[in-house]
Amino acid sequence: MTSFTDHDDLKHLDEKDPLRLVKQRFLIPDGVYYMNGNSLGPLSTDAKTRMDKAVSEEWGHELIKGWNTAGWYDMPKRVGDKIGTLIGAKPGETLLCDSTSVNLFKAVNAALSIQKGRKKIISESGNFPTDLYILDGTRRFSKGEYELATLDRSEILNAIDEETAVVVLTHVHYVSGEIFPMKEINLRAHEKGALVVWDLSHSVGAIKTDLEGSCADFAVGCGYKHLNGGPGAPAFIYAAKRHHAQIRQPLSGWFGHEAPFSFIDDYIPANDARKLLCGTTGVLGASALEAAVDLFLEVREEERLEKLYRMSRLFDAMIAEKCSPYGFERVSPPDPENRGAHLSYRHPDGYAIMQNLIAKGVIGDFRAPDYLRFGISPLFMGYEDLLKVTDILEEILKSKSYEAAQYQVKHAVT
Ligand SMILES: *Cc1c(COP(=O)(O)O)cnc(C)c1O
Repeated sequence: MTSFTDHDDLKHLDEKDPLRLVKQRFLIPDGVYYMNGNSLGPLSTDAKTRMDKAVSEEWGHELIKGWNTAGWYDMPKRVGDKIGTLIGAKPGETLLCDSTSVNLFKAVNAALSIQKGRKKIISESGNFPTDLYILDGTRRFSKGEYELATLDRSEILNAIDEETAVVVLTHVHYVSGEIFPMKEINLRAHEKGALVVWDLSHSVGAIKTDLEGSCADFAVGCGYKHLNGGPGAPAFIYAAKRHHAQIRQPLSGWFGHEAPFSFIDDYIPANDARKLLCGTTGVLGASALEAAVDLFLEVREEERLEKLYRMSRLFDAMIAEKCSPYGFERVSPPDPENRGAHLSYRHPDGYAIMQNLIAKGVIGDFRAPDYLRFGISPLFMGYEDLLKVTDILEEILKSKSYEAAQYQVKHAVT
């Protein structure tokens, strides 16, 4: 492996970078190194322009006619299909709607609706909290029909048995960045008659994801992380076409009806994936997200992934060289291709170090008890940025400036 630690070498890499013009479309404040696209992607000129148009021209001018004239009504399917191309789905299998938490509830219950007689729901202990909480809610409200087993990730594959109704896993772990072998788990589940729901919140817009090639059943994911859709952007839900006819889901709102504008009393579900919808689309949020996704679709996936892996390898090598002497310890897998688009490290003073970094313009985040996470984005970061970040971090560690009182204060959102 070549270790680049020289500003000139990295500048040269940036000059040759086929994605360098894409980077200029992101509106990141001067002096900020943004390594938190895994929690909240940054604003692009594309999303800003589209948002302005949605407010002024569409809402402001078209008023309610916008549902037809500005394409608002079709947004769940139109934007869903665009996201679908990033995750290996066929047209008509992915819908933009609701939040990831709500979509997870719908997807899990849709899967359970075709798994009569099976009791067990399996998930990973240490999964993202909302996933475990939604499963706990599903179990509680089933009045004893289901039980939830949360297991260590190493035990999951062998725990799937003939009693298992649904396995619910996050493809890329939100802390460690470890990746579950999607196809292997799907095939094992299918062999035992179980179904799998994947949470792609840290996969979409980050790593290669092939739902169809992996024989996936159901999936959900987030619009405001790597997709850069804006704070609280709508999420997405996916169901493989082979399940559309049989599934039902409990949030049977009017947008999932066969004919929402017939205004009849009886709920008749749509005969396709639209039965997974619930209520009215958040059009402004969906507009920003659509523009952000369009930007992704302009970029060749191989170029994006090649840059991601190279940056991820470089950043980790720089941290190993400059920060491990000060007690930085990598939590993520060693090989860039076996981890998501963020790197996590442990340090006993992780919280204060991250606060100090943020004060110096390096925005990553902290997860209890002692994890520092750094998102790696091939779209809006360059190679030299990585060296600047690790120089700043090394200086903080060397001087112990993070011990100052102002960096110890705990904030509500970390
Ligand atoms: C971020 C994230 C979510 C977010 O759920 P919301 O409903 O948008 O709050 C869900 N699952 C995973 C794995 C996440 O990383």
